[in-house]
Amino acid sequence: MSETSEKVNVLNDAEKDVIVRYRNVKKAFGDTVVLNDLNIDIKQGEKIALIGPSGSGKTTIIRMLMTLEQPTEGTIEVDGQMLWHKEVNGELVTADEKHLRKVRGSIGMVFQQYNLFPHMTIMKNCTEAPIHVLGLSKQEAKERAIKMLTKVGLADKVDMYPAQLSGGQQQRVAIARSLVMQPKVMLFDEVTAALDPELVGEVLEVLRDIASEGETTMMLITHEMDFARDVADRVFFLDKGSIAEQGTPDEVINHPKTERLQTFLGRFN
Ligand code: ADP
Repeated sequence: MSETSEKVNVLNDAEKDVIVRYRNVKKAFGDTVVLNDLNIDIKQGEKIALIGPSGSGKTTIIRMLMTLEQPTEGTIEVDGQMLWHKEVNGELVTADEKHLRKVRGSIGMVFQQYNLFPHMTIMKNCTEAPIHVLGLSKQEAKERAIKMLTKVGLADKVDMYPAQLSGGQQQRVAIARSLVMQPKVMLFDEVTAALDPELVGEVLEVLRDIASEGETTMMLITHEMDFARDVADRVFFLDKGSIAEQGTPDEVINHPKTERLQTFLGRFN
């Protein structure tokens, strides 16, 4: 085999592993451009931390993946499926709602506010979507829920209501509820930001556990630098709508190159 064809094969294998791909993505709200020419490839199982000052575009990046925002230009793909466009006879046409719903099914998201249904037990919170969206039987959904609630250490709380749990416990339920759907990609938007400081640790611990299992592709927006350093395979530093630095946690967090990143990290010391 010639050197050239070997290289092509390596490239193809690498491409096959990519589960999330942003290509030349621009996002503007009115005249304000909030993301500019974003290109990101995330491999299956990779853990990505997005860091950067408030307003730099981190949430918009993951909201577009969740199909809550549409890019102004460019394309986004998840697991080989175009989010906003699909290929029909080799041409890109705008995706319909049915297509988007299908793609959304492969993505889970946990927000800063845990948004559990207050009038439902913890078990019901975790089984509603698998029953109604995935079409699982009650029994199957319950089994999955127990498995995930055990993973987050809350299997004994199935009959309780959200208000009976602490904020940290509620956020752990929200994580379990998302995992029950067995998403290919999990998005976490500052999941500890609304918690009292003493409750942050238990939620990060759960995320560390999920990350260490290695299967789930994760994108996390976080201001917890120690956590990002431990969990992430790659860190992206967003600044004014662009990726200003990226690399391993050691490169980005321990050895920042630009003054902007040094200043940003300085706030956490
Ligand atoms: P971050 O997550 O880094 O704090 P965001 O992605 O939330 O940043 O926001 C990036 C920029 O986009 C901010 O200037 C914000 O005000 C603006 N923005 C976000 N959502 C909207 C919206 N729906 N309409 C107008 N501007 C928005």
